[in-house]
Amino acid sequence: MPRTYIKDLANHIGQEVTIKGWVDIRRDQGKLIFFDFRDMTGKVQGVILPNAKAAHEVGSKLRPEWVVEVKGKINQRPEKNAQKDKQNGTIELEILDIVILNEAETPPFDISSEGKEINEEVRLKYRYVDLRRERMQKNIRNRSKAIQVIREFYTGENFTEVETPYMTKSTPEGSRDYIIPSRLYQGKFYALPQSPQQYKQLLMSAGFERYFQIARCFRDEDTRGDRQPEFTQIDLEMSFVVQEDVMAINERMIIELVKKLYPEKEIQQVPFPRLSYKEAMEKYGNDKPDLRKDKENPNLLAFCWVIDFPFFEKVEEDAKAGVKEGWTFTHNPFSAPKPEFIPDLMEGKNIGGIVAAQYDMVLNGYEIGGGGIRNHDPKALIKVFETMGYATERIENNFGHMLKALASGTPPHGGLAFGFDRLMMLLQNEPNIREIIAFAKTGEGRDPMMDAPAEVEQKQLRELGIKFGK
Ligand code: ASP
Repeated sequence: MPRTYIKDLANHIGQEVTIKGWVDIRRDQGKLIFFDFRDMTGKVQGVILPNAKAAHEVGSKLRPEWVVEVKGKINQRPEKNAQKDKQNGTIELEILDIVILNEAETPPFDISSEGKEINEEVRLKYRYVDLRRERMQKNIRNRSKAIQVIREFYTGENFTEVETPYMTKSTPEGSRDYIIPSRLYQGKFYALPQSPQQYKQLLMSAGFERYFQIARCFRDEDTRGDRQPEFTQIDLEMSFVVQEDVMAINERMIIELVKKLYPEKEIQQVPFPRLSYKEAMEKYGNDKPDLRKDKENPNLLAFCWVIDFPFFEKVEEDAKAGVKEGWTFTHNPFSAPKPEFIPDLMEGKNIGGIVAAQYDMVLNGYEIGGGGIRNHDPKALIKVFETMGYATERIENNFGHMLKALASGTPPHGGLAFGFDRLMMLLQNEPNIREIIAFAKTGEGRDPMMDAPAEVEQKQLRELGIKFGK
């Protein structure tokens, strides 16, 4: 008999069906054995009546998480036992036959609860079991739905989805790179991208005009707070645009996402209010203010834009670390100064006062996205690197390809990237991004399930020409 999904059982009252799934709960009352069965579409209660001898024999062996194929008849529950507000609460599966597809060891922890009471390291170690819990199933499935809405939105707006390399060369995004030793070119390394920043700009040089990607980003940061070594960005870039264009289209995307997937949520203010960096700092003491009028309401979404960030910030001298006093970028070295500040940049004046064409989207006190209009004039980009004290040779070595591309006929362009894990965390009302990532690492950057990072074979090291000093 073909398989029927559990969500569809109520359409089969009076009929025989076959379901496949897991034993969720078993309640043995001697003569009667009750079960909850579970598949990807939901749960249903089943019962083995005393006269179903063969089923009774198999049924008494079943334990939670065993995988089974169950044949049975769908009966309407008597009115007094009906649970109208529960999925399949008005029906019951009268079990006629059970085939065990696979047994299961006793699960390492309870999966019927929210799971927040369980040691997280243990949850991550047995993630394939942890993910079976309803809350995690919802998080991961809604994440997938969100990706679908986002993809549809951008493709509908003529964006082209392009995959850019994960094995590349170091990008300065203010963090440390993960690097991959090359076997064929010993002593040389690829870097994992901190973001697709340079590639997406090069796609603008290449004439795609509108690009997006669900991109993995890699940053080797000290383990502090709610960070993951790899995380996902909704990354995009557009040609022939000004700041307002990029902000408008992404504000529309976010509103559509919330309306389609989270109709129960309320967006506090549309259009999203805007604050300059200066205002935000003066009024709220930080550049990602939580503007919610009611912080107790889990369905309230207070979006805002923070704009007009300073381009450069001072670096203090640190003789021990070999750092000289100077300037560094606050957000992104490829951002453009706002048009009225270009003369300052070119003349090396008022460096601390230069404002970048840079914008962040903030939600309930978290930065969920950021972007900028880029510097498409190679001479101005050279000035940015010179301002930060880079010598001509270093600029050429690190960014020669960008400067050449800008000089090859690159349109004005700008873009933005959303931190997708954080966005989903907030939309799903979760306390951290690990709850939104199927196979997350611990806060300390370890994967207890795969046991990564791990040592590798001596042979692999030899092939790479790597020797460890004592
Ligand atoms: N690449 C930037 C980041 O990762 C985002 C952008 O400016 O588009 O923060």
